[in-house]
Amino acid sequence: MKWFTFPGGIHPPEKKELSEKSSIEIMPLPDQVIIPLHQHMGAPAKPVVKKGDLVKRGTLLGEAQGFISSNVHSSVAGKIKDITYFDHSKFGRSMGVIVDVDKENDDWDPQIKPVENPDSLTPEQIIEMVKNAGIVGMGGATFPTQVKLAPPPGKHYEYFILNGAECEPFLTADQRLLIEQPERIFKGCQLILKACKAQKGIVAIESNKPEAIKIWTKFLENQNNFQLKVLKTKYPQGAEKQLIYALLNREVPSGGLPVEVHALVQNVGTAAAIHDVVYHGYPLVERITTVTGAVKQRKNLKLRIGTLVSDIIKYCGGYLGEPGKIIFGGPMMGDSQRTDYTPISKGTSGIVVQNKQQVSRKQHLNCIRCGKCVTVCPMNLLPFEIAIRVENDYIDHAQSLNAMDCIECGSCSYVCPSNRELVQLIRLGKNKITAKRKRGA
Ligand code: SF4
Ligand code: SF4
Repeated sequence: MKWFTFPGGIHPPEKKELSEKSSIEIMPLPDQVIIPLHQHMGAPAKPVVKKGDLVKRGTLLGEAQGFISSNVHSSVAGKIKDITYFDHSKFGRSMGVIVDVDKENDDWDPQIKPVENPDSLTPEQIIEMVKNAGIVGMGGATFPTQVKLAPPPGKHYEYFILNGAECEPFLTADQRLLIEQPERIFKGCQLILKACKAQKGIVAIESNKPEAIKIWTKFLENQNNFQLKVLKTKYPQGAEKQLIYALLNREVPSGGLPVEVHALVQNVGTAAAIHDVVYHGYPLVERITTVTGAVKQRKNLKLRIGTLVSDIIKYCGGYLGEPGKIIFGGPMMGDSQRTDYTPISKGTSGIVVQNKQQVSRKQHLNCIRCGKCVTVCPMNLLPFEIAIRVENDYIDHAQSLNAMDCIECGSCSYVCPSNRELVQLIRLGKNKITAKRKRGA
């Protein structure tokens, strides 16, 4: 079988064996959740509830504000204790809804009802349901899904790609979903294909998931609008642009979107969430998250959005050693957390713990112009050049070196023998360029 891939990239040591055999397990309800009103790219949701309100599972808590935004629903039944600021995993101090959980009455909001005939839905109706349900890209990017499903005027999709790469070296949540719930995912895929009006579907899985490949090979045997393609195991194979290049040999233009090359990419969890809203009426209030690294029991857990990391770790038997770093997402592209008193959100694909001994404190040296960062950059950038420009505050130069095309995969930092903080510098440069653009300078 041919394996598809892209130029550049790296092969970090994989630790999927820590959790890949752990079947998805439902974590019991915690006593309290903090549900962030900002769980997506774009504007935070605006609260539509107040302190003291009683809510059910699926009750709308926050309404999307603007085109790029998303609704937020309660993941539990209970009473709203407060609506206040907390330490967000990605956006710093941010507003969230604290709910005291009513464990005895874990019912769905009575307003939630499945549609009578899902097959009769038009693409526009599916997109509207996805929007109302607050579905976002669950691979970590958290872009509002309804925006991606509807191409801008004058554009169209030809291919829908189900992203089953899960190239982050520790994560196995998508892998378990692919193995355990292929029907749910595939029904979601058919809905996506219909909604985005593409003709062909591709299920893309990395070669390091033989069980999932076996299941999906059989599953797609008689499906003429979908085919399975196996990807070479390489990081960052699951990045949207690298996936499209590997499968379709099409390059998304600099600054452009995948729709420019007529491709739509959606994550495995997103497809499952789309199935749930159309077939059951459920908004997005839970997700599968890999909990791994320096914890006593590594698991793939089905978690209610807003569950605190401290509760999750307790459920997993506690830390192994003294915790040094807690990362949301994978170790390559994830975000370090300041505390374990922080809730998971729609994009939390993994919780990776490193203990104090595992957290390396490397000395940062000068660039020796070895070129390794250039060789591995999957976006064909010059990471060392951009980083030097940012360090010296030559932001216009960094921009002219296409800094904004950096997908922040961290491959350059990973290979740098001088331990240069390349991705951090480039991210800083991107923020400065964005701020400058906003000022109109
Ligand atoms: S410059 Fe950006 S895209 Fe290129 S390797 Fe570094 S982090 Fe990845
Ligand atoms: S890998 Fe590090 S040392 Fe080598 S060129 Fe890039 S920044 Fe310089």
